[in-house]
Amino acid sequence: MIYIGNHLSSSKGFEAMGEMALKLEGDTFAFFTRNPRGGSAKAIETEDASALVALMGREHFGKLVAHAPYTMNVCAAKPDIREFSRNVLAEDLERMEYVPGNYYNFHPGSHVGQGEDVAIPLIADAINRALRPEHTTTVLLETMAGKGSEVGRSFEELQRIIELVELKDKIGVCFDTCHVWDGGYDIVNHLDEVLEEFDRVIGLDRLKAVHFNDSMNPCNSHKDRHQKIGEGAIGAEALRRVATHPLLQGKPFILETPNDDEGYAREIAMIREWMI
Ligand code: FE
Ligand code: FE
Ligand code: ZN
Repeated sequence: MIYIGNHLSSSKGFEAMGEMALKLEGDTFAFFTRNPRGGSAKAIETEDASALVALMGREHFGKLVAHAPYTMNVCAAKPDIREFSRNVLAEDLERMEYVPGNYYNFHPGSHVGQGEDVAIPLIADAINRALRPEHTTTVLLETMAGKGSEVGRSFEELQRIIELVELKDKIGVCFDTCHVWDGGYDIVNHLDEVLEEFDRVIGLDRLKAVHFNDSMNPCNSHKDRHQKIGEGAIGAEALRRVATHPLLQGKPFILETPNDDEGYAREIAMIREWMI
């Protein structure tokens, strides 16, 4: 069994997202912690957050996979962007405590010409400043497609960040099927080998969540264009092997496919069929 859900709008608050997930037959979901292209965050309403926590318990939800805004780049070359991003990370981790014990996923960042040797310590430093021992959230680094100067395009790059993180029990990885494929890992023909490689380089115990997407482009294209499940270059058969893989059971699978609510409900139903 896996938990399945999709990325939801947070505009109506926490409880409304839980109800929306239920309506789509999901038992987890993702949401942006703030406007993905902007910076400001709404005040959190404690009661609304508690109502979601209650709903999740009652309905046996898996862990949520919150997503940091795209504007966050903790390894930016410009000091003001770096500072802004560090503050977003720290503030978001405080806010995550309103829904304790879940996941906070972020893109490691783009090194914008500085090179990954400069970027990797900056990313770890931002995490080390933001993450405190009393936090109940696990921070997830997302596997990236390697578009532009993205850091996290290989398992090795992610592991280099993890090695520098102080609170090792609070750091993990979110495995994005579209990104991994675009990044050059052939999960269509060599899924077992890719997972073995992940285990050898990072350790499968760090793989906490899956972003479940098909891809518009071939393996190793470094493009990052998501496609609906079964309509892309990865295809339904290979994605089915991912969702039913024994090593990936028990984890939240988040759809970030180009869909409306109806489309998400259809994909969730299709994946549930695979589990039977
Ligand atoms: Fe992402
Ligand atoms: Fe993703
Ligand atoms: Zn993507």
